[in-house]
Amino acid sequence: MRVLVIEDERGLATGLAHGLAEDGFVADVAYDGVDGLWRAVNEPHDVIVLDIMLPGLSGYEVLKRLRKAGVWTPVLMLTAKDGEYDEADALDLGADDYLSKPFSYVVLVAHLRALLRRGAPTRPAVLAADDLTLDPASRRCRRAGEELALTAREFTLLEFLLRHRDEVVSKTDILTHVWDENFDGDTNIVEVYVGYLRRKIDAPFGRHTIETLRGAGYRLRSAGR
Ligand code: CA
Repeated sequence: MRVLVIEDERGLATGLAHGLAEDGFVADVAYDGVDGLWRAVNEPHDVIVLDIMLPGLSGYEVLKRLRKAGVWTPVLMLTAKDGEYDEADALDLGADDYLSKPFSYVVLVAHLRALLRRGAPTRPAVLAADDLTLDPASRRCRRAGEELALTAREFTLLEFLLRHRDEVVSKTDILTHVWDENFDGDTNIVEVYVGYLRRKIDAPFGRHTIETLRGAGYRLRSAGR
């Protein structure tokens, strides 16, 4: 089993590589995000250990670009508890597992073996409604073949609506799933963002995909213009 370790702390990286080699893995090391991404895309690895804070490209950026390039090698992220990012971000961005620093080597190997048993994650399916498509893996959205530029929040909102297409979803449902669960602001924010989405996915194409149901919420229609 071949492991790619992308970690800029040289002592930690080489220590890991030595330990892994002794445990029967083939271990490659990259010390920055750019080299790490290149190796992850161009060399066959069974699992990747990816640090977040890296020179060149952050671990998050490496992961994003890796998935966008269609590489589905399982990724274990090394997160720092007090860092700017946390575990939830790692999983949101498509990491398959994470470990908080500092971690024990034995625990790391146990996690790697579990990931290897599980194998490569299945690529999430492309969501569609009529000629509107959204690919959660590459984070691309298209209508009638035209690529649409959505902000991260608009993308998450549209993904949620598409996953519940032809169902009525309340503003509260949307707030809970698209905004932070601790968000205690005005539910009007949902209305504002639905407006933004309509201006991008509907208005330019003369469509009415997102219906407003007064007092109930919204419904994204999968068919009918
Ligand atoms: Ca680091």
